[in-house]
Amino acid sequence: MSLVAGVIGVQGNVSEHAEAIERACATRGIDVEVHEIRTSGIVPECDLLAMPGGESTTISRLIHREGIADEIVAHVEAEKPLLATCAGLIVAASDAHDDRVETLNLLDVDVERNAFGRQKDSFEAPLEFAGLAEPFPAVFIRAPVIDHVGDAEVLAEWNDRPVAVCEGPVVATSFHPELTNDDRIHELAFFS
Ligand code: GLN
Repeated sequence: MSLVAGVIGVQGNVSEHAEAIERACATRGIDVEVHEIRTSGIVPECDLLAMPGGESTTISRLIHREGIADEIVAHVEAEKPLLATCAGLIVAASDAHDDRVETLNLLDVDVERNAFGRQKDSFEAPLEFAGLAEPFPAVFIRAPVIDHVGDAEVLAEWNDRPVAVCEGPVVATSFHPELTNDDRIHELAFFS
């Protein structure tokens, strides 16, 4: 089996996602070609997509400017998997309470940016995660919190606040699963 994967590469933790996807595929004996996406025309070729953390205002501006935003929406409408992390979750949400982020409305959730504080308040926590037998070592960096959940399903909470959700082919986390060598969330998003 061979797959084409895309990591939205306009800004943020791109290579870490690419490596996690490569490891998750290698474990399954799947050949994968991973593209870093900065221009339109590649997403339609992709079987699976990751939208990384970074700065949601910048990611949102660039994916709309480059014509990638509509392609991501079409990818999800075609029921192909998308993993959106941190700023990626903000961009995928229905509302980020911030006019500078034009969200893609891929998940029926609202988010509040930087809800856990600033860079110095970044932390790692063992997180109980639906579908995972053992807690996940979740790294939160200026992370958003999900402050309203509509049709999405909550997969994890931290201090009673939702920090991971899924809806259809989309899995989204407030934290950074690509910053550990633990690929279980990539595997869950892409292969379950
Ligand atoms: N604070 C960033 C934002 O609001 C997200 C941080 C991250 O992706 N680590 O876009």
